[in-house]
Amino acid sequence: MSDASLKHPVWWREAPPAYPELHGELDADVVIVGGGITGVTLAYTLAEQSATVVMLEADRIASAASGRNAGFLLAAPAEPYSEAIAMWNRDGARAMVTTGRRAHQRVKELVGALELECDYRLTGSLRLCRTEEEAEDQRASLPELNADGFRMLETQVHGNVPVESEGHFKAAFLMPEDGEFHPVKFLHGVAVGAAGLGARLFEHSSVKYGQWRAGLWHVHTAHGVVRARTVVIATNAYAPKLVPALSRLIAPRRGQLLCTAPIDRTIAARPTYAHWGYQSWRQLPDSRLVIGGWRDVALDTEVGFEQNPTEQIQSAIESGLRDLVPEGAAIEHRWAGTMGFARDGRPLVGWLDPEHHVAISAGYTGHGMGMAPACTLDLAALINWKPAPGIATFDPARFNELRDAREGTVLLGAAVG
Ligand SMILES: Cc1cc2nc3c(=O)[nH]c(=O)nc-3n(C[C@H](O)[C@H](O)[C@H](O)COP(=O)(O)OP(=O)(O)OC[C@H]3O[C@@H](n4cnc5c(N)ncnc54)[C@H](O)[C@@H]3O)c2cc1C
Repeated sequence: MSDASLKHPVWWREAPPAYPELHGELDADVVIVGGGITGVTLAYTLAEQSATVVMLEADRIASAASGRNAGFLLAAPAEPYSEAIAMWNRDGARAMVTTGRRAHQRVKELVGALELECDYRLTGSLRLCRTEEEAEDQRASLPELNADGFRMLETQVHGNVPVESEGHFKAAFLMPEDGEFHPVKFLHGVAVGAAGLGARLFEHSSVKYGQWRAGLWHVHTAHGVVRARTVVIATNAYAPKLVPALSRLIAPRRGQLLCTAPIDRTIAARPTYAHWGYQSWRQLPDSRLVIGGWRDVALDTEVGFEQNPTEQIQSAIESGLRDLVPEGAAIEHRWAGTMGFARDGRPLVGWLDPEHHVAISAGYTGHGMGMAPACTLDLAALINWKPAPGIATFDPARFNELRDAREGTVLLGAAVG
């Protein structure tokens, strides 16, 4: 990997706004732990509703997966829809794509309302199949997906990939509703909007522990404490570190990407998934190609919290890059990020413990940019004790472990005191 001149995501080329570290004591209606897309969109939504909000981020806003992803806004999960139905039944599968659609709508709404310059584009997305078997599975899913109101249509490989790459793919499918954005510009724009509505955002303010005392949470960082009625865990892969009962439900999984120098021809007109969703790429407005995935090459080792790219996966991504750009392209960025994979592939959104007002939105299994903005809309309703049917199938209480653990969840974090 000697040609990597930069070891961080392409999204970090510009310095983002900075937020202070928490010092002292604060009171709020809601304290949000985590400053990724979940924490930031929830802070904005609650502030819009006039709640007093404090958001505590351990590092920088968008320093974890939310600043390390590919910026795809996809409604449907990577799996063919028939597989999604087999895993989650029809209602469960429909809830996933409906959430994806609503999240995209929420992104569009925020981009408009806050006048965000974040390269948001309604491009549609492309799924390419490398084998006939995969193509047949996608084809078999079309009637069910279309019957549930989501358009996906088979198109030609020719015209959708560079001519010299056509031989690598057997079939192509178009999802016209999908889109893409610059994840970090989006997140920082929403954060500025949230702060403008009165939300108090802090960086370098890792939550060490929380205690429920006399009807209030006392959430402690190294130099401060926030007292609040409600705590929301917005730490995705890191959630089990504060709530150990989640350790068998949300697992850290690594994802890797690289980004080339600008390429002076069209490689991909829209976000593209291939090989059952394990491979993905998109071309940025400045014509750089972001390409990555290939986790299936080393599923056993692409786990844990280490956010460094590895030789094995980066080489595999480079071989995929050669399929698309046989003449080669300079590689300018390589990076990795940690995703939170839920045990059943669906996020956990809702109350962890309604009695002690602990809620969560996490475990997006690699699709949080395209899901969290809708999940946090619904979670904001739920913590205001309003109905939130959109997240009913994501209720953490579907796991027995949590039903048992929620009795007496009065501590967050292992090291109390
Ligand atoms: C390589 C890669 C590509 C991806 N591509 C896509 C894509 O194209 N489309 C898509 O939809 N999804 C994609 N994803 C997944 C997506 O990025 C995640 O699902 C999403 O960012 C999760 O957002 P989050 O805010 O819940 O979590 P995160 O972004 O992980 O944020 C959690 C935050 O919590 C903070 N934190 C942790 N512990 C504490 C603590 N004790 N106190 C305070 N703060 C704490 C962390 O520092 C972190 O900033 C990709 C992920 C990766 C890694």
